[in-house]
Amino acid sequence: MTNPLRNLIFWLSTKKTVTHSIGRLGTRYGFARRFIAGEALDEALRAIAPLSRDGQPIILNHLGENVSTPEEALRARDGYVQILRSLREAGITGNIAVKLTQLGLDLDPQLCLSLTHDIAAAAAAMENSIEIDMEGSAYTEATLRILEEIQKQHGNAGVAVQAYLFRSQGDLHRLAPLKPKIRLVKGAYREPASIAFQKKSDVDGNYRTLLNQMLDWLIHSDGPGLRVAVATHDPALIDYACAKIRQLSLPPKQYEFQMLLGIRRDLQQKVLSQGHPFRVYVPFGEAWVPYFMRRLSERPANLSFVLRSLLAENKKTNSN
Ligand SMILES: Cc1cc2nc3c(=O)[nH]c(=O)nc-3n(C[C@H](O)[C@H](O)[C@H](O)COP(=O)(O)OP(=O)(O)OC[C@H]3O[C@@H](n4cnc5c(N)ncnc54)[C@H](O)[C@@H]3O)c2cc1C
Repeated sequence: MTNPLRNLIFWLSTKKTVTHSIGRLGTRYGFARRFIAGEALDEALRAIAPLSRDGQPIILNHLGENVSTPEEALRARDGYVQILRSLREAGITGNIAVKLTQLGLDLDPQLCLSLTHDIAAAAAAMENSIEIDMEGSAYTEATLRILEEIQKQHGNAGVAVQAYLFRSQGDLHRLAPLKPKIRLVKGAYREPASIAFQKKSDVDGNYRTLLNQMLDWLIHSDGPGLRVAVATHDPALIDYACAKIRQLSLPPKQYEFQMLLGIRRDLQQKVLSQGHPFRVYVPFGEAWVPYFMRRLSERPANLSFVLRSLLAENKKTNSN
């Protein structure tokens, strides 16, 4: 968690000059393709068609965050409604993940709430659902407030809860009565020691505590409601969750596993082959660099994969 290379890559991901250069290189050399399903919606739909044919549900995310004008936020709203329509027309089983700073949270929380309502209402009319990604801690409280409003009104919303934050246990208790879908993640941002666990072992320990808490609610709840998404690529946590789920005989409608496109595809296959419900999170869009760099910062070994792609492509260009 405190690896200096990780911190450096994460810091670079917030610098516009760096992200622009990486964006140009990535578009030219295609090294981000393993993690991103293309820049346009039709490319993404083509990329997920094989998953869908295998009966695997997806979560589609149109990459983008921290928009700077209301017009951009409105365009993001329209884009999401179009994605929901396109999924239905293409017969793809899947929902969407939205980031609230892409819907104007920095500009005006009321605008953001109203645009999120529009998306949730469109999803509800298509019997679909939305999941709200959790961003850096500056947005946690505002994100939960919006989730609460949306879930009260439409009943089809989920949110990510980050195990690295000290506050998350309290947040689970706050959210549980509303019965949203809760996606349990470790957390992808850099947070200070005053509010977040810094050591991997502590984050993993809290992940287990929060998971146990949710599983406990699930076995004591009757009727539809709270659902848990175990969103991690950590083999030890996945084994832990599988063992617990087996022990409690948890029905598949109450939980699922989630992983990111292109990451630990071996584990994705393993979870699927064990018959667990599984959903792959598929990001697409032109604004892919910050997402891509967060993935690099989580596993600096991915840098060697990027360098190999660049070298191979250069070799090809020179020999042409
Ligand atoms: C479906 C999904 C949705 C998410 N949504 C959010 C969100 O809304 N908000 C948020 O803050 N975070 C989100 N995350 C990211 C999450 O918080 C972590 O940053 C990320 O999943 C890495 O943590 P890990 O649980 O995989 O465990 P780690 O301990 O980081 O990794 C465990 C193992 O997974 C593999 N691995 C992990 N990351 C990579 C990678 N980038 N490349 C290759 N291998 C890797 C490695 O084998 C590693 O040893 C999401 C993650 C998933 C899977």
